[in-house]
Amino acid sequence: MRIIFIGPPGAGKGTQAERLVQTYRMAHLSTGDMLRAARDAKTEVGLKAEQYMSKGALVPDEVIVDIIAQRLEQPDCQDGYLLDGFPRTIAQAEALDAMLAKKGTPLDAVLELQVPEDELFRRLASRGRADDSPQVIRQRLVAYRQQTEPLLAYYRQRSLLKSIDGLGTVDEIFRRACQVLNQ
Ligand code: ADP
Repeated sequence: MRIIFIGPPGAGKGTQAERLVQTYRMAHLSTGDMLRAARDAKTEVGLKAEQYMSKGALVPDEVIVDIIAQRLEQPDCQDGYLLDGFPRTIAQAEALDAMLAKKGTPLDAVLELQVPEDELFRRLASRGRADDSPQVIRQRLVAYRQQTEPLLAYYRQRSLLKSIDGLGTVDEIFRRACQVLNQ
């Protein structure tokens, strides 16, 4: 199965992604994790990305599209993957569509985790990652609303969007995710 997992920062995507990739045997492609690893390894891409990440801004599309294009060629992606944190802009979604059309491997679904904004802010503020200061959190929520939310309409038009309620226990939310993916 090839799926995109989409949701605002703080929605609990990471936790659910871990369980979904185990259950459905997909590679887990988290662009946030990839960029943090590149930053910590002080690669050229990582150092460039850090300038954006530290402000809560998105890294430039071409940077992340290149990373994903290479990653999708790896052997562990051939039987399916879950994209976590990508695409985040319409330009990224279009680039992904072009890549997948060329490979003849269409997406199966786009899963959206829905959580109200006041709850997101509360969760993020109590998490304590380096890019979790109140100002940076606000900026990440703004980036989501302005740049990523338009993807919901994009994938709804393509009949790929499946949305679930992200409030509840980890088990409850996981069951909802499995239910819509098994449909
Ligand atoms: P969050 O915790 O906000 O969901 P992630 O861990 O997925 O964020 O990503 C952290 C940061 O990495 C983002 O705020 C952004 O700067 C950068 N990033 C991750 N994925 C992308 C992407 N697809 N396009 C642009 N920037 C990205």
